Amino acid sequence: MRLLIIGAPGAGKGTQAALIKEYFAIPHISTGEMFREAISQQTEIGLEAKKYIDKGDLVPDSVTIELMRERLLKDDCKKGFLLDGFPRTIAQAQALDEMLEKLEIKLDAVLNVDIDDKILIDRIVGRRTCSVCKENYHITNKKPKVEGICDVCGGKLIQRADDTEETIKNRLRVYHQLTKPVLDYYAKQGLIKTISGRENIEEIFMKVKHLLGGNE
Ligand code: AMP
Repeated sequence: MRLLIIGAPGAGKGTQAALIKEYFAIPHISTGEMFREAISQQTEIGLEAKKYIDKGDLVPDSVTIELMRERLLKDDCKKGFLLDGFPRTIAQAQALDEMLEKLEIKLDAVLNVDIDDKILIDRIVGRRTCSVCKENYHITNKKPKVEGICDVCGGKLIQRADDTEETIKNRLRVYHQLTKPVLDYYAKQGLIKTISGRENIEEIFMKVKHLLGGNE
């Protein structure tokens, strides 16, 4: 199964992606996560990406496309993949098409997690992530059993540096301007499957499985 998941920041892409990865046994490839990893390791790419991420802007296409080109060549992608947060611009979508063509593979579907902007700001500001296993939580909607501690692995929960109100407004603007057109790009290829990001996590995942032809 070769999938993309697209949605505004806070739409719940990461949460659904973690479930899809498990269910279909495919690698979950998040460019945002790859950048955060590079930042924590202070690599050259990390230092470059941080300048943009901290402001809620997109990392330049040249950097992001190269990162994905290398990632897709890794062995684990042979069994399929779920790309989360890539492509975010038309140029990235075109570059991805070229990469797939060279590899002689095609996408099965593009999941569009659709949600109203008004809900997103509250979701993002309250979002917490495990610093170790990256499990997502929310201070009111998905509380951990012990405050500040991950239920899954006991890791410390942290707030992402770019999950502040000012950055979010810019990230939403960027999403509407640059990423929304990517949905039209894939609609023309007949690949879009839209799910509502408003329902609860399990309900959304049931629909995802149904749309992707899973057993349940
Ligand atoms: P995410 O974790 O997907 O919300 O991504 C966090 C941040 O990483 C974004 O706000 C961008 O600054 C950067 N980023 C992630 N993916 C991309 C991409 N495909 N193109 C450009 N920037 C990206």
